[in-house]
Amino acid sequence: AKAKGRNLVEYYQPQIQADAIARAALYDELRDAIDEGQFVVYFQPQMNGLGEVVGCEALVRWQHPYRGLLSPSEFIEFAEETKLIVGIGRCVLDAACNAIHELEAHGFDYPVSVNISVEQMYEDGFVAEVIALLAAKQIPPQRLCIELTESSMIKDTQTVTECMHALRAAGVSFSLDDFGTGYSSLAYLKSLPIQEIKLDLRFVRDMLKHTQDAAIAKLVFALARELDMDVIAEGVETQEQYEFLRQLGCKYYQGYLFARALPLADFIAFSRSNGTE
Ligand code: C2E
Ligand code: CA
Ligand code: CA
Ligand code: CA
Repeated sequence: AKAKGRNLVEYYQPQIQADAIARAALYDELRDAIDEGQFVVYFQPQMNGLGEVVGCEALVRWQHPYRGLLSPSEFIEFAEETKLIVGIGRCVLDAACNAIHELEAHGFDYPVSVNISVEQMYEDGFVAEVIALLAAKQIPPQRLCIELTESSMIKDTQTVTECMHALRAAGVSFSLDDFGTGYSSLAYLKSLPIQEIKLDLRFVRDMLKHTQDAAIAKLVFALARELDMDVIAEGVETQEQYEFLRQLGCKYYQGYLFARALPLADFIAFSRSNGTE
């Protein structure tokens, strides 16, 4: 009767069955990708108002054995749901630390921002692991900025708060990603040690088209000033957006107007031609 029941389910829910198979396959592929080091990290420049590089964001890509270079939108959400993000996050952090060394060797001492999902912070020993990695690689913690990204609500605020305060005490800084969208909430600004707010690219994209988005953008800058935090605008694609943001008091920018995320060697070349040296 049990087998029959299963067949019935299969018969009536072919789509669910197909999805389950696809998810199982993706799970295995991602696990192999972690073991075999198939992740590559690109670096997108972060600029100041003088057109100088002041930092970069590490963005992961998956060099899939036959599907090519995959964007994070194709696997990060699934990785968060299945906790595989913990292993991917380790690869990214490791690559970011190596990049910090490489940058240093070329005379660039700015911080590198790494996206960390809250799911990574729920893992026991996360803080100790990050601190140990920085120590092992002899990287001053000030060179690491963690971008707190979340595709779901923070379920365990106490753990996240403790993790962040411990890392902050060690010298790591924090940027609140996608501010103003989804689950990234105002309350976090009060309880979490955040030095920078990232103005989400959706506001940047729409602020010249809709007065509501412009109003929200203005509010974010006013709020940041009151709270003594920096704002970095992401997704800046046009000169008009850049000018508008500058009028709002924006000091830091990231977007295709300057550069896309680049392989490390290209990012270093970009830094050379857009630096203070
Ligand atoms: P995000 O952190 O909000 O990153 C910004 C995304 O916008 C990046 O896409 C970036 O390439 C893209 N972008 C940058 N400038 C522009 C622009 O001017 N216009 C437009 N239209 N887009 C721009 P990407 O690299 O595909 O990353 C997507 C998301 O994946 C990231 O969004 C982040 O949430 C997540 N992600 C990326 N790397 C990691 C990682 O190592 N760990 C975790 N947990 N999440 C990651
Ligand atoms: Ca980010
Ligand atoms: Ca963002
Ligand atoms: Ca995001």
